[in-house]
Amino acid sequence: MTAPREHVEEISCQEFVELVTDYFEGALGPRTQNRVEEHLVMCHYCETYAEQIRATMRALRALDDEPPAGEPSPAILAALRRRREDSR
Ligand SMILES: [Zn+2]
Repeated sequence: MTAPREHVEEISCQEFVELVTDYFEGALGPRTQNRVEEHLVMCHYCETYAEQIRATMRALRALDDEPPAGEPSPAILAALRRRREDSR
């Protein structure tokens, strides 16, 4: 994709909200990422919003992660419990 404009336009809060998840996933191009970061510095509303999104994404990612060693996941515990009940 080509960028026809030399001037870096400021993005609106609306655009920021649309871009912020891609921003945290590192899915934005460097130019767009710069604009998002510039907006983040200037706009306290979006700064707060971005923090909330970051926390939400971290929580979602934690659910996907393997449980830490020595801590079987609830699904495994449930399966083990079921097996124990079957053998009775
Ligand atoms: Zn904003």
